[in-house]
Amino acid sequence: MIHCPIEEGDRIRNALDNMATVHGKQVYEHFLTGAFHSWSQYPFSGGAFSMFKPHQETELFPDIRAPEGRVHFAGEHTSTAPAWVEGAVQSGIRVAHEVTNLPRTYFGW
Ligand SMILES: Cc1cc2nc3c(=O)[nH]c(=O)nc-3n(C[C@H](O)[C@H](O)[C@H](O)COP(=O)(O)OP(=O)(O)OC[C@H]3O[C@@H](n4cnc5c(N)ncnc54)[C@H](O)[C@@H]3O)c2cc1C
Repeated sequence: MIHCPIEEGDRIRNALDNMATVHGKQVYEHFLTGAFHSWSQYPFSGGAFSMFKPHQETELFPDIRAPEGRVHFAGEHTSTAPAWVEGAVQSGIRVAHEVTNLPRTYFGW
């Protein structure tokens, strides 16, 4: 999980300060209002995407994507491009192949 080290009340100010570094102090005059969203502090996401610690990917990767009976696992974290939409799409295609390549008898047809 990427943590959010900047205090809630300072986040918009911090963003403005960063913009002012690039565009100059005029950004303060033009600023009307702002909003922020912390993916790491939002309880329903708990972060933005998977982030493996050193060696975790090597250790966990084979099991993360392994089917469990009839349940197949897709999602960026199961792909070779974690944290990207590309990985999510890649994993969806993999699971579609896994499911469609199952023998027909598996479904009781
Ligand atoms: C702020 C931000 C910026 C990003 N920028 C980029 C970018 O520029 N480029 C890029 O490629 N990627 C970016 N990403 C990453 C990208 O969005 C993710 O890698 C991608 O969306 C992951 O897709 P996914 O299908 O694996 O998971 P998700 O998109 O997270 O989909 C999982 C779905 O499962 C649902 N769900 C969860 N639990 C349950 C449950 N129990 N029952 C039913 N449904 C459930 C969730 O509601 C969600 O809809 C960004 C992510 C964030 C947060």
